[in-house]
Amino acid sequence: MGAKKQVVIVGGGASGMVAAISAKRKGADVTILERNPRIGKKILATGNGRCNFTNINLDAACYHGSNPQFVYGVFSEFGVQETIAFFEELGIAHKVEEAGKVFPMSDQASSILDVLLYELKELGIRIVCNAYVQNIKKEQGRFSVELADGTCFHGDRVIIATGGKAMPSSGSDGNGYTLAERLGHTIIPLFPALVQMMLEGDYFRHIQGVKFIGTAELLHNHKVLAKERGDILFANYGVSGPPILQISRKAGELLQAQEEVFLKIILIDSMRIGELSELLLKRMQNRPEKNVEFSLVGLINKRLIPVILKEAGISDLHCPVGNLSVKERDKIIRILTDWRFKVRGTKSWSSAQVTAGGVVTAEINQKTLASKIISDLYFAGEIIDVDGKCGGFNLQWAWSSGYLAGQNAAL
Ligand SMILES: Cc1cc2nc3c(=O)[nH]c(=O)nc-3n(C[C@H](O)[C@H](O)[C@H](O)COP(=O)(O)OP(=O)(O)OC[C@H]3O[C@@H](n4cnc5c(N)ncnc54)[C@H](O)[C@@H]3O)c2cc1C
Repeated sequence: MGAKKQVVIVGGGASGMVAAISAKRKGADVTILERNPRIGKKILATGNGRCNFTNINLDAACYHGSNPQFVYGVFSEFGVQETIAFFEELGIAHKVEEAGKVFPMSDQASSILDVLLYELKELGIRIVCNAYVQNIKKEQGRFSVELADGTCFHGDRVIIATGGKAMPSSGSDGNGYTLAERLGHTIIPLFPALVQMMLEGDYFRHIQGVKFIGTAELLHNHKVLAKERGDILFANYGVSGPPILQISRKAGELLQAQEEVFLKIILIDSMRIGELSELLLKRMQNRPEKNVEFSLVGLINKRLIPVILKEAGISDLHCPVGNLSVKERDKIIRILTDWRFKVRGTKSWSSAQVTAGGVVTAEINQKTLASKIISDLYFAGEIIDVDGKCGGFNLQWAWSSGYLAGQNAAL
């Protein structure tokens, strides 16, 4: 057996903490360097404070990046069952909710952080906070990890677990990519993912706050690239809500490539177009004297009505609904079932849940997460060019990659 390895972990987030635990359990001497006054800040914000920490429907198809297959090797070592067992052993009883999302029974993200902190302490892992790593150098087979205040830590192995650029207020402001680049790694261009979409249109301030259950489709060259159903929310810049976050990744990718992207919203998706047309006709025939604006009250959110009618080209909102032509009625139906918007962008890093892009996987060993460029350097978490769908997949990547990197760094 060789000498105890000194492992320095840069970043005390989800992946860094699990990497520390697995490295220590394998016998290494472990130090976590965290720039914040405390570790694990972002975990507290996850899952709306409930921490959706994994998903039982884990599959490589839930991940994106220049090589989505990269996740296979990692999950075959430490997948959902291992994650649930790992947290169970630390004290987290779990429950499975819709779409396979897994949460702690306590419904508190803080309990995930609490048990991780407890284990780090029990294992005697050194945690240095307010430690902003500014440079990593390798000299004569050893790493020097330099902090902004000039302090230097030395180690045989280094794991970069600095996260991405999403929610920079949590500490992950993208500086980790600079550390990786300086060590010779290539960074796949970054853009925010799982993020709200900004749409063209001058009426959003009138409808902001309106929420409905509907379908969102992402269109490029008239082809549907992604489709999701659920709670959609209009905002003063465009749209938000789980279906929008889910399809935002593809939108971001195309916008990066200067492509035109459109969003189709189906406000009423619970009936076929023919049925909706019949329903509308019946309502109009029933009370033909009602003005066109009032005739839609009870069918759709009141605040949407003037905007929808304007979009349908109906300028006189007070004309009796019985006077509407078939063409005008069809136009209303089209907006209710196929409202098109040009996507002008996505919201920025402070609103995003995850980073698309990162350290290219071709430069990382799939089985160990070791760098193929600098020996004894490892990567874990969001810094790698892997991002998952909404639903527990990103934390799963952080735990799995952290576990594997920690284990191998200790050997
Ligand atoms: C609001 C929100 C909600 C989310 N909800 C979920 C969810 O419910 N389920 C899910 O699966 N995913 C969720 N995610 C995504 C998930 O939180 C991240 O993918 C995951 O935390 C990434 O882990 P990480 O360890 O790679 O990075 P992080 O958790 O971001 O940790 C990186 C750490 O490194 C530190 N650091 C950075 N640079 C330095 C440096 N130079 N020196 C020292 N320290 C440094 C940072 O301060 C930070 O503590 C959510 C994200 C957000 C923003």
